[in-house]
Amino acid sequence: MSELRVRFAPSPTGYLHIGGARTALFNYLLAKSQDGAFVLRIEDTDVARSTQESVDAILDAMKWLGLSCDEGPLYQSDRFDLYKQKVQQLLEEGKAYRCYCTAEELDAKREKAKEEGRKPKYDGTCRHRTDQPDAPYVVRFKLPEGREETTFIDRIKGDINFHHDELDDLIIQRTDGTPTYNFVVVIDDAEMGINLVIRGDDHINNTPRQILLYEALGYSVPEFAHVPMILGPDKKRLSKRHGATSVMAYQQLGYLPEALVNYLVRLGWSYGDEEIFSMADLIEKFSLDNVGRSAGVFNPEKLLWLNSHYIKTGDPQRLAELLKPFLKQQDIDFEGGPTLVEVVKGLQERSATLVEMATGAEFYFVDQVSYDEKAKKKFLKPEQKELFTVLLDKLGACPSFTEELLEKAFAEVMEVTDLKFGKVAQPLRVALTGGAPSPGIYDVLTVLGKDISLQRISQAIEILGA
Ligand code: GLU
Repeated sequence: MSELRVRFAPSPTGYLHIGGARTALFNYLLAKSQDGAFVLRIEDTDVARSTQESVDAILDAMKWLGLSCDEGPLYQSDRFDLYKQKVQQLLEEGKAYRCYCTAEELDAKREKAKEEGRKPKYDGTCRHRTDQPDAPYVVRFKLPEGREETTFIDRIKGDINFHHDELDDLIIQRTDGTPTYNFVVVIDDAEMGINLVIRGDDHINNTPRQILLYEALGYSVPEFAHVPMILGPDKKRLSKRHGATSVMAYQQLGYLPEALVNYLVRLGWSYGDEEIFSMADLIEKFSLDNVGRSAGVFNPEKLLWLNSHYIKTGDPQRLAELLKPFLKQQDIDFEGGPTLVEVVKGLQERSATLVEMATGAEFYFVDQVSYDEKAKKKFLKPEQKELFTVLLDKLGACPSFTEELLEKAFAEVMEVTDLKFGKVAQPLRVALTGGAPSPGIYDVLTVLGKDISLQRISQAIEILGA
């Protein structure tokens, strides 16, 4: 068998959508798993709606997800000459014709068809025309005669039949001379040697038209795999109403790319009852055989759960790097003070996103702890003075803040004050963190370090009962 060649072909008219990202991912995984090639093609023939900003946004999002291509990005706008040549070829072979019908004429025909309860289709007025008036025209592809239907076997959906009653003479070149999507996609896929087209099933109605064009242009027809849509929880097509739909919005919300990749792949593909997949696992296990035929429903809680998993199990060094922009965003100065990696280790267990982790990290880096009012009232009372004084004394005598030495110091404090562990730890936690949800007390003490911890205890003593 020849090498698998797949492609992702986004139109740069906006950001990379969750659905597009999943299509890209499926293509990428299949190419990697079969040692094939993954081609990236930017479909920018719609010059008015395509922007460089969108191209950059799509490339950034793919890079963030780790979906590197083997070839490309190729731009359709660089290939207009080729498309022109192919239009010419079809015209010369009598497989396409110039259509001079005006927009008004077409509108009137459409209205009439509607009134008569017929499907609005082009009626072929210009099909047999031989003159070439000096007037604007589009080029139409002649629906081949003497054939009733076009069929193909979709790798996901199975047998697909389209009756030609559904089709009419497709416009392949607009009046301004630019080629249309269905036409260029065929030329590009063929010229780029794509032998399997994996894309969203919103394109399934285009496929018979494209197959006819492959044949007319003398190309071999690739295989197709149409991936079901992604729906919102209300079973309507996923849109902004359901929350963020842009890949990079999830980066800004503090998600890890591996969580999004894992989430997206499972939206439509399964492997037994396994849920957690690294990219390497996926490259080994992914195939179209386990892609479902029905639409996936977007579930934000599951994505959040996966993100917590990847934060919990992530490399603290890497997470610390990823956390920095989020700290900056929250105006948290993390230079100096506790070591960021140690802070991260303490927070991994309890943060579902990097945004949450940044919020949780704040108390480590403040110059002055700000106390939660309720916690302050409850735990920083004048009668705690003895406890804090003993804590200052015993922790001050602790040669260094290791868990073992801290345990020893705590035992001494408990003995002197005759208090249970909780009665020591709770007020101390408020003194150290202000009352914020935080890791275990030894963890907080170790990460803050001796100097800052003692300073915060002194500060608490000063304000007791204030
Ligand atoms: N450019 C098309 C889109 O963004 C994709 C076309 C295709 O995959 O064939 O919807």
